[in-house]
Amino acid sequence: MLQSHVKFHSIAGKRLVLIVDDEEINREMLKHIIENDFDYIMAENGQEALEKIKEYGETLSLVLLDLRMPVMDGFEVIQWMKGSEYSEIPIIVLSSDAAAEVDSLQIGASDFIVKPFSFPQAILTRMQKTIELFEDRSIIQSTEREYLTGLFNKEYFYRYADQYDTFHKDLIMDAVFIDINHFHLINELYGRKAGDDVLIHLSDYLKDLREKTHCIAGRVEADKFFVYIEHGKIDYTSTVEEMNTHFDDFRDIHVTIRCGIYQNVDKDFDIETRFDRAIQAANTIKGNYSRSLSFYDNSAYQKKVFEERLINEMDDAMANHQFYLNFQPKYNVHNEEPVLSSAEVLVRWDHPDLGRISPGQFIPIFEHNGLIQKLDFYIWERALECAGKWKKEYGFELPLSVNVSRMDLYNSTLLDFIEEKLALHGISRSNLYLEITESAYMDDSAQLIEIINRLRAEGFKIEIDDFGSGYSSLNMLADVPVDVIKLDMRFVQNLKSSEKQETMIRLIMDIAKYLNMDVVAEGVEEKAQVDFLRSVGCDIIQGYYFSKPLSEEEFVEHVLNATGKDK
Ligand code: C2E
Ligand code: CA
Ligand code: CA
Repeated sequence: MLQSHVKFHSIAGKRLVLIVDDEEINREMLKHIIENDFDYIMAENGQEALEKIKEYGETLSLVLLDLRMPVMDGFEVIQWMKGSEYSEIPIIVLSSDAAAEVDSLQIGASDFIVKPFSFPQAILTRMQKTIELFEDRSIIQSTEREYLTGLFNKEYFYRYADQYDTFHKDLIMDAVFIDINHFHLINELYGRKAGDDVLIHLSDYLKDLREKTHCIAGRVEADKFFVYIEHGKIDYTSTVEEMNTHFDDFRDIHVTIRCGIYQNVDKDFDIETRFDRAIQAANTIKGNYSRSLSFYDNSAYQKKVFEERLINEMDDAMANHQFYLNFQPKYNVHNEEPVLSSAEVLVRWDHPDLGRISPGQFIPIFEHNGLIQKLDFYIWERALECAGKWKKEYGFELPLSVNVSRMDLYNSTLLDFIEEKLALHGISRSNLYLEITESAYMDDSAQLIEIINRLRAEGFKIEIDDFGSGYSSLNMLADVPVDVIKLDMRFVQNLKSSEKQETMIRLIMDIAKYLNMDVVAEGVEEKAQVDFLRSVGCDIIQGYYFSKPLSEEEFVEHVLNATGKDK
């Protein structure tokens, strides 16, 4: 069912015409004649014409059709069109065979022009007349415009917006909803006629806007309007202000509007959903007289886009060395004088456009889809490479802990990989600690315990990271073999606010002692925290109090300072 033609094929508002002729010279001539006034596509025979018509469908305003062509001639094209859903698209036949005129018109052509083309202007005029005739007819047939304002009604608004997208796939679009505040009151206080006038007055503004921006505008309910407009065409703050002032001198009736905007629409959602979002945005300011403009909160969508971007770009980022390492020192505070005892390796991502992205953002994404294995192997290798270099150049070998995600543990090459890199860089395995986050132990599969047991048997130290963050039960400690418990940061950071935390830490310390495990506290920022931890026997401390995570150069300097090796 085709009831109307799309007037929006081109941004400049030109209509689209299909030129069908087997002779190139004719096509070129027609093109030359019409190109200022129309957009065009071409076909070289009837068969090709059919394909183009199917492809462009309702957006075609007119077909200029030659009769004598190979493969499929013009008569067949007319017959096919008239029996198809495209029967409403007007056809002008172009032929040197004047005798064919009657036949063509009889089977459904709208007009007939005799070749050769001697009067270009006459052709243009006849094209325009034909199109006008058909568009008017289709308007009458379909009542696509609503009676009062002449804007599209809801059904046609949606339809045209959809079609607009089909032909402007790359444009970024905004869905705008406009509502007149207290419209029912205007009707009641001033009468229906005044109400109608208000609607017409706003429609006039929207029609101007349509002229200027080629947006699509519709009145979709009594006092509710939709506008579908290319992103960036207008500034919303000033436009809404302008709409309000547009009513300033309007017959002493105080009219204000409310506007909800869903910017940069996600075209995966259907058009109705997009405008629902614009309506939702407007609803958030209903009854709030100080605001007439509200944007749909797109953050969930933005987040998805952001995540997809990180996933897509990870490989390149690795190849381009955008990932690099930071090292955060851990200090032993058992004695009065703190001693640098090891460091944690933390990954950093310097993105050329997005700047520095926190691992708190990208690690969970990569853990979710498995990419983390690739990244972690890379980080471990780089860490051991650094350790080997420091050993050679500065003569120190400090234990490093690397983070290990749950996924990594299921990689059967993990052990071989680490051993190979240790050997390559001359680092002993007792100097590599594996920090496995607590949540990894959650699915207490036998397989996991077996892997961890194997790693320990090979001489690696296993730390359980973020201990107490939620997944662990104390039972777990008895079942799962680890060497070091790393207290979740929150224990330390909540020390001040609750005595319970103190008790919890004491308790964990007792259990750790009983199970012969060391305890590391991280996120330690203050002297008082250090003092407390030391008093309960927690000797290893990591946190800003001693040092932030450092770049490689900073870290080397830090180590040399701390160990008195600085040259
Ligand atoms: P995490 O393993 O618990 O690392 C500790 C985080 O606390 C780090 O954040 C560190 O910069 C931060 N931190 C250290 N001291 C303090 C302090 O005194 N106060 C506060 N407020 N924060 C402190 P970062 O570097 O942003 O890392 C976040 C998380 O990302 C890490 O938490 C870890 O789970 C993950 N991650 C980092 N690097 C890697 C990696 O190479 N592989 C894997 N799988 N995960 C990593
Ligand atoms: Ca960690
Ligand atoms: Ca941690």
